[in-house]
Amino acid sequence: MEYEREFVMIKPNSVRRGIIGEIITRLEKRELKITALKLKNITENEAEELYKEHEGKAFYEELIDFIKSGPVILMIVEGPRAIDMVRHIIGVADPLKSSPGSIRGEYGLTVGKNIVHASDSPVSAERELKIFFNEEEIIEYKLNTQKDL
Ligand code: UDP
Repeated sequence: MEYEREFVMIKPNSVRRGIIGEIITRLEKRELKITALKLKNITENEAEELYKEHEGKAFYEELIDFIKSGPVILMIVEGPRAIDMVRHIIGVADPLKSSPGSIRGEYGLTVGKNIVHASDSPVSAERELKIFFNEEEIIEYKLNTQKDL
């Protein structure tokens, strides 16, 4: 099974609501491993780089302004099939269409402020995590639940 690293960003509205812990708990309960984590006000350049595939779309300017509106939590989360697993746990872009047990399906109301971001493929995860982390910031360790302890 493919061991992957996934990039996750808890959006500013979730930080302001004080639900960081609840979101991180969802990932930890699945035995995904957090290997990097920081709280940061992201810059204009970082926001544009992260969302460059959406440049020119109707929601783009609003998305960039929103993502810079306050600090976000930036994380790298690892595990077998981590990318599909995290996307499964967070739900789809529109909270209305996300299953009620998912993060967006439980906490989200609108597409624009849908609580959390996670990369949609191994290529985008590597591209996106490199915007915010260098390799020295990614910490190697073993979870208690990993078999080879
Ligand atoms: N987005 C938006 N309005 C839209 C579609 C997308 O504001 O009509 C924002 C939303 O924050 C979403 C992000 O753009 O999370 C990226 O959209 P995508 O379709 O790639 O969804 P995701 O990968 O976040 O599930």
